[in-house]
Amino acid sequence: MTVRIKNLSSGYKGGFHLKEINCRLYAGTITGIIGPNGSGKSTLLKTLAGYLPSENGDVIIKGRNLKNYRPKERGRLISFVSSEAYIKFPFTVEEIVLMGRNPYIKRLSSERPADYMKAAGALKLTGCAGFKNKKVTELSSGELKRVLISRAICQDAEIMALDEPAAHLDINFVKVIFKILAQLKNDKKTIVAVLHDLNLASLYCDNIIVLTKGEIFKNGAVNEVINKKVLSELYEEKISVDNVRGHRFVLPRPCMERRIK
Ligand code: ADP
Ligand code: MG
Repeated sequence: MTVRIKNLSSGYKGGFHLKEINCRLYAGTITGIIGPNGSGKSTLLKTLAGYLPSENGDVIIKGRNLKNYRPKERGRLISFVSSEAYIKFPFTVEEIVLMGRNPYIKRLSSERPADYMKAAGALKLTGCAGFKNKKVTELSSGELKRVLISRAICQDAEIMALDEPAAHLDINFVKVIFKILAQLKNDKKTIVAVLHDLNLASLYCDNIIVLTKGEIFKNGAVNEVINKKVLSELYEEKISVDNVRGHRFVLPRPCMERRIK
């Protein structure tokens, strides 16, 4: 399902504002949002997912403005994983993941066996099944991240927006999570993720949106964006982009003294 973002702006009183963002997110693709710290990546993601009100412009999904969807409809349409979640209440892991089913449960009804099965499936995929009865207040950052991703998987929305899904994850789970996202992409989901790791962005994204100072600096396919020319305009430090065994490999330089003999 295509998401059309038209002249979108949002921000914080007396502070940062996004400037007229125009772009599209496509079904069956992963779009990466990259850019320097503070460039507005999280602000854009929250706004397009409906978690931060827009000031101007529109997010159009299925020909309808996101603002005009009822909350439960929106929950079936789009899931959101924030970069840093702080959950105060000691819910269990399973309870948090089951919350992903709320958009499908009628008022005054409770979860059905099928909802528990969906939650169990998501927990298994992300390697969280073994601690489903643990309190979320007692998890490591990486475990919590996987739980929040599990909730989004359990929500089974057509569009998935993830803020730094790889943050806090060990290399094994980075691969696990991106394999899941690749599978969801094959299932025609529309996936958009804020990513810091340009190598991961190169490996898994189809399109990349680069933000700087609240504006789109570049938007295109991976090869059009993750190259020496664009990155040298974007970052002050020298960055190399090499071909390593057929994959794009981005590295901050210099690191010559660390060469493997
Ligand atoms: P990024 O995700 O690209 O690092 P953000 O979108 O989080 O950047 O933030 C963009 C700018 O908005 C930053 O300068 C940040 O300090 C500011 N900002 C973020 N959240 C808030 C907030 N809740 N209130 C005021 N300013 C904020
Ligand atoms: Mg951010």
